[in-house]
Amino acid sequence: MKKGKKIYEGKAKIIYSTSDKNLVIQYFKDDATAFNNVKRTTIEGKGVLNNRISEHILSNLSQIGIQNHLVKRLNMREQVIKFVEIIPVEFIIRNVATGSLTKRLGIEDGTVLKEPLIEYCLKDDKLGDPLISEDHIYAFEWASKKEIEKIKKMIFRINDFMVGMFRGVGIKLIDFKLEFGRLKNNGKKDVILADEISPDTCRLWDSITDKKLDKDRFRKDLGDLIPAYTEVAKRLGILHEQSNVSAVNITKLSSVNKKRR
Ligand code: 5GP
Repeated sequence: MKKGKKIYEGKAKIIYSTSDKNLVIQYFKDDATAFNNVKRTTIEGKGVLNNRISEHILSNLSQIGIQNHLVKRLNMREQVIKFVEIIPVEFIIRNVATGSLTKRLGIEDGTVLKEPLIEYCLKDDKLGDPLISEDHIYAFEWASKKEIEKIKKMIFRINDFMVGMFRGVGIKLIDFKLEFGRLKNNGKKDVILADEISPDTCRLWDSITDKKLDKDRFRKDLGDLIPAYTEVAKRLGILHEQSNVSAVNITKLSSVNKKRR
């Protein structure tokens, strides 16, 4: 399988075509953006950590029957994924109120929700990913009722699994964002999980100290992001406990990998 042309570049990832029309390569960049691109920087090593963490979570989800786009990780920064037509909706699932929910509704930060709460946002950077209702999705045919019913079931299952997985390593899964896509399958279109699941797309708080181990470190200037993402990877058993992962280390590893290819 050969890597082809760039077909899409987002804020944190680039998608390349391949010689197989059903597969594309997803490249994880080091770019960090927040507040709809108003705050931007490059954080060396972020893409490498997100690639590994997302691979770990999506592989585990496959094992519990959540169909997703991951085929395999290729190297430090790239994964082979199935080509899907992305549904233009960001699905947010929350276990604890924080972030935009608390600002919008005046709920006290850190309120534990009785039931996980799903919110929908239109995936449109120019509009700032506005909050929408389920009826908007049907009115503008962004997805069918059947697709949304299936997606909701998948989201609750993913949330249950991930809450348990993170609890086991001393991390509270506060909220996260998911994206889904349509995969062509013998003339039918199946909805599967797409995009990434990483500290860029989740809020992860240490169970004891509530220390933020996610992208809020960048959004809110809470200090270095790489040690926090490294901590998540170590606790999940992706990196060795002893390994001293620094941005410099990761970059070196990355270039060794490039030379090998
Ligand atoms: P909030 O709506 O509170 O800003 O975000 C809720 C959750 O969804 C957080 O875990 C946040 O990281 C994730 N999220 C929402 N929108 C985006 C987005 O456009 N990009 C990324 N990376 N995460 C998002």
